[in-house]
Amino acid sequence: MPPKINSTKCSGCGTCYDVCPADPVVFCEPVDSDDWKSEVIEPDACQECYACVENCPEEAITFEE
Ligand code: SF4
Ligand code: SF4
Repeated sequence: MPPKINSTKCSGCGTCYDVCPADPVVFCEPVDSDDWKSEVIEPDACQECYACVENCPEEAITFEE
């Protein structure tokens, strides 16, 4: 099951993309000139390693049980 990203909490730091071994499950891109957000773009590629959850500084990533 892929992660969910809370776009309100996400600061667009890109850490989730950097740590994901299966990239690009998550990809950080600009929503406007100075505001970046991550999105789940390849949910089926997720290996459920939880590196993104553990490394997100904003606690913006969750998994549904
Ligand atoms: S690590 Fe968290 S705050 Fe950083 S881009 Fe990913 S979801 Fe957003
Ligand atoms: S759980 Fe692992 S494989 Fe899945 S999106 Fe997060 S870092 Fe990538």
